[in-house]
Amino acid sequence: MFKFLKEKIASWAKKISKDKSEPEKAESMPKSGKIKEEKIKREKPEKSEKLKETEDIETKPEKESFFKKLAGKISKTTISDEEFDSYSEDLQNLLLENNVAYEVAEKIILELRKRIIGKEILKKEIESDIRDSLRDTIEGLLIEPFDIVSRITAKNLANKNEPYVILFVGINGTGKTTTIAKIAHYLKGKNISSVVAAADTFRAASIEQLKKHGEKLGVKIISQQYGADPAAVGFDAISYAKKNHINCVLIDTAGRMHTAKNLMKEIEKISNVCKPDLKLFIGESITGNDSVEQAKSFNFAIGIQGIILAKADVDEKGGTALSVGYAIKKPILFLGTGQEYDKLEPFDKRKFTEKLGL
Ligand code: GDP
Repeated sequence: MFKFLKEKIASWAKKISKDKSEPEKAESMPKSGKIKEEKIKREKPEKSEKLKETEDIETKPEKESFFKKLAGKISKTTISDEEFDSYSEDLQNLLLENNVAYEVAEKIILELRKRIIGKEILKKEIESDIRDSLRDTIEGLLIEPFDIVSRITAKNLANKNEPYVILFVGINGTGKTTTIAKIAHYLKGKNISSVVAAADTFRAASIEQLKKHGEKLGVKIISQQYGADPAAVGFDAISYAKKNHINCVLIDTAGRMHTAKNLMKEIEKISNVCKPDLKLFIGESITGNDSVEQAKSFNFAIGIQGIILAKADVDEKGGTALSVGYAIKKPILFLGTGQEYDKLEPFDKRKFTEKLGL
């Protein structure tokens, strides 16, 4: 993740720092010193005494320029509106090229502008100051994730025999089935039992796919025949969990197309019947703006509370992860980082900005 963005942000901050902290050339080489030096060089000193004198005079301008440079680094500077504007277009372009949604790129620049314009910065610290400001800006846009394990445990403790119900929505092919299996595996590792409702009764092979995961993980899959009412499958799974003291119900849903009205109606119906405690959107890290638009559609239909982004391991750009949460103002809870069950990372804002080299 952030293969390109990391390098480009680093050189962007470096460029501002270089432009602002390099002392004027004229300043580092005073005219008088230069003329004197040239004159002396033309004379050919014969005696060693004369040679020494010449050396002393020749090194003087260099020493002076060194101290001037040093003074330049210790002294403070500010970045003006105009200067910021001349650099912000580059930043905006490199964010957009790396899948950051337009609204998010604009917001980053706006926030960064507020943080650095007019602020007194030590010249030697310009680069680190800009990077710190960018890190704080990005962390400020990412929403703090919550811990699903403590939510599940809290509900189980408060209502005996009441399982915690999670509804998963997303488009086919994004990694939804695999991610649900990963969540079941993750919960198992935390001593939380789960049952999966195969409520995508539309897509050929989806029930078999889930059953295979269930066999491997030792997790029960509740299913009906293809074409059955998905809400009824979810309801069955909840009843099964209550009877068998299972902590959590994971409901898979169909994902034909986020624009299809009947799909959204179907999801709304499952949501109304099963009354999930948590509605999670599963998107793909690599698809950029498509994921952002999908998240918005599902959020509009049923109100999403959290996001899981699959395939973060094959995403070289990283902009989707930066954008999707901000777009619907909901946190990313996990990143999918591979095809195996244990390749599911709880999302950590700090670690995320570290990947950006900030
Ligand atoms: P669904 O149609 O949305 O249910 O998608 P699947 O769960 O069938 O996944 C589609 C493909 O993506 C499969 O080949 C998965 O192994 C793969 N996949 C899922 N999650 C990840 C991930 O985090 N990283 C990688 N590299 N591949 C993944």
